[in-house]
Amino acid sequence: MELREHVPLAPYTTFGLGGKARYFVECGSEDEVRAALAYAAERRLPAYVLGGGSNVVFLDSGFPGLILRLTIGGIELRDGPSPEVRAGAGVDWDTLVQNVVPRGWTGVECLSGIPGTVGGTPIQNVGAYGQEIAESLVSVECLECAFGYRDSRFKRADRGRYVVLEVTLRLARDQKPRIRYPELQRAVAGLGGLDTVTPTEAVGLVRQAVLALRRSKSMVLDPADPNTRSAGSFFTNPVLSAAAFADLAQRWKEIPSFPADGGVKVPAAWLVEHAGFPKGYRSGAGAGISTRHALALVNRGGTSADLLALAEEVRAGVEKQFGIRLAYEPEVVRSET
Ligand code: NAP
Repeated sequence: MELREHVPLAPYTTFGLGGKARYFVECGSEDEVRAALAYAAERRLPAYVLGGGSNVVFLDSGFPGLILRLTIGGIELRDGPSPEVRAGAGVDWDTLVQNVVPRGWTGVECLSGIPGTVGGTPIQNVGAYGQEIAESLVSVECLECAFGYRDSRFKRADRGRYVVLEVTLRLARDQKPRIRYPELQRAVAGLGGLDTVTPTEAVGLVRQAVLALRRSKSMVLDPADPNTRSAGSFFTNPVLSAAAFADLAQRWKEIPSFPADGGVKVPAAWLVEHAGFPKGYRSGAGAGISTRHALALVNRGGTSADLLALAEEVRAGVEKQFGIRLAYEPEVVRSET
């Protein structure tokens, strides 16, 4: 085990923020994860498992315990009528998507361009354009997961109890992808549509359309695009009860809404913008809202404190205007983790 000390965490996050980890270790195998956890347990150190760093905020004070950065690699493709892909937790998520799309395997093409590693996807139940990881997930090690919107048991009751080592997905073949979101339908139509292409070509076309859409909103990591020093969406879309939504819609007739499990989903981006926080908004110098997407908070060369102050300012503004308290999507890592 190659243990490092006082390691700056900022380079390991898409925000580029955070102080130093007291201890830091890269784990490329199950044995290395076991050894690292044993080391932390013996010394009563808090431990935190890091993947791609695309959904995490480390404090400026850093982390007083042990950071385990998962680098478990390997992608195994199993062809068949229902093809499967098995990947190590440390594999870059989009690399997995790039591996399956040219084969015409469908099920994750709408999740193209999402930053982060494979191991993070079941924790977050990553989703985009109506497709989510829970639909294709076969196994996460040996655990059974109860998934909800951008949620899973790993994130709540069992938070911190399990380390995801490997993920297996089951995909489909010889089928054209189903496109559920109108914006993506329009983007696909702009590339010629799916009618006259083969199923394999169709999967590739959807990936191409998703990447173009995400890039137009600065949602694909790009060192040349300062808007991408972010964690994508900073707030999840709230799901309101039917009664609470009816009350809101009386006051805000033009509010967009979508049916969701347990109620009515309202886009958090709409709430943010209509609470007085437009794209490009900046309060202090160090953090701001992306110029391309109202849900993405961006590090503009400041500190974690700047970013979290902005997050609280936006949250308070939305709560004051709409009576809705937004939940953060990224995890803010505090020492008790
Ligand atoms: P968008 O298309 O501008 O839509 C705004 C919101 O309305 C989204 O929150 C989406 O909910 C909802 N929505 C739109 N059309 C819908 C439909 N036909 N059925 C149900 N809900 C609908 O959203 P966007 O921000 O550009 O993102 C596009 C997709 O990529 C979304 O699915 C979004 O979740 C995903 N995405 C996620 C992240 C992240 O960091 N988690 C970052 C970028 C994009 P949903 O969010 O529930 O889909």
